[in-house]
Amino acid sequence: MGERKVRDRLPTCREVVELVTDYLEGEMPPGDRERFEMHLATCEPCVTYVEQIRLTIGAVGALDESKIPDDQRDGLVAAFRELFT
Ligand SMILES: [Zn+2]
Repeated sequence: MGERKVRDRLPTCREVVELVTDYLEGEMPPGDRERFEMHLATCEPCVTYVEQIRLTIGAVGALDESKIPDDQRDGLVAAFRELFT
């Protein structure tokens, strides 16, 4: 999934949504992580989103998939499957 990599610029909100599981799982390279957090420092909606996903990951069995857009859900479901198996 090389196209998901964040390059030498701040990620967009869309990329924050796409990368949030990597961020929360600690699988993001340090440079990308730094830029991800720089975006969060200026974008409250993304902070809220990251917190929501963090809570969702922390609450097994309480996943409210209706709040996640269809095109994101498949990737998240795959990520959750990796986390919980
Ligand atoms: Zn944002």
